[in-house]
Amino acid sequence: MKIVIDAHAGFCPGVLRAVEKVENLLAISGNLISLGALIHNPVELQRLQQKGLMTRPQEELLTAERLKDLKDRRVLVRTHGLAAAAHEALRQAGAQVEDATCPTVRRVQSLIAEKDEQGEQIVIIGKKNHAEVIGLAGYSRKPLVFEAEADLAGVVFRDRVAIFSQTTFDHNRFLALAKNIQERVRQATVHDTTCRHINRRLQRLIDFAASVDVLLLIGGSHSSNSRVLYEACRAVNERSFKIEGVDELDRSWLRPTDRVGISGGASTPRWQLEKVRDYLLELSAQ
Ligand code: SF4
Repeated sequence: MKIVIDAHAGFCPGVLRAVEKVENLLAISGNLISLGALIHNPVELQRLQQKGLMTRPQEELLTAERLKDLKDRRVLVRTHGLAAAAHEALRQAGAQVEDATCPTVRRVQSLIAEKDEQGEQIVIIGKKNHAEVIGLAGYSRKPLVFEAEADLAGVVFRDRVAIFSQTTFDHNRFLALAKNIQERVRQATVHDTTCRHINRRLQRLIDFAASVDVLLLIGGSHSSNSRVLYEACRAVNERSFKIEGVDELDRSWLRPTDRVGISGGASTPRWQLEKVRDYLLELSAQ
């Protein structure tokens, strides 16, 4: 068996920046509460939790009763960002906010606020319950959020519409939905805010998946990005499998003559890929 790690895999710049920030903060003091899971990767999250990171559900901590408990506590805003009102609530509660919002997400938030201010109707294409989408929606007074064509049925748009995407939403699906809306609106501007890093990464991963016999994609089961990448791999290589770690690996997927490729989502660190590689090396030596 030949085993290759995808040269382009590893944390995306936003996650890398956030994890480094968390590690630096934890090195000063272990007192850091994350508003929701920092990344959708339970293995990496557990490593940071062992260093002192505490994760609490965002919707639970931002209630009026719980906010007062955050006075003088260090609170981490993750890469997905937070609505403007939630930032203000934390400030008023006296929390010490450590903001790890990805700069790409922050730019989308600012652009939404600007277009909303200019009187355009804000449309966000993304997963309705995704934390980033909830945050983005919080920069507009009356945003519309769509995830699929079916959501558009019966919707009456205003004359001027600004269309945005969740950064990790499937790029082609975004373009198709945006086109559909454009055809129904007098003046619609499409702001393609899908993450450039993810889009580039997708094409490279597709090439990589097509070049191996078996593709193992390592990623958290709740990672939106890992799911998108996995589906793209399956489209070019039906022997693609998505796992969180070696525990989920089924040996029957592999043959001794296979060239096995290992890759991961934007929130999968390289050490996790190397762990799977080492396991496969042991397996093939048996
Ligand atoms: S996927 Fe893109 S937008 Fe999301 S955290 Fe990474 S770099 Fe930022």
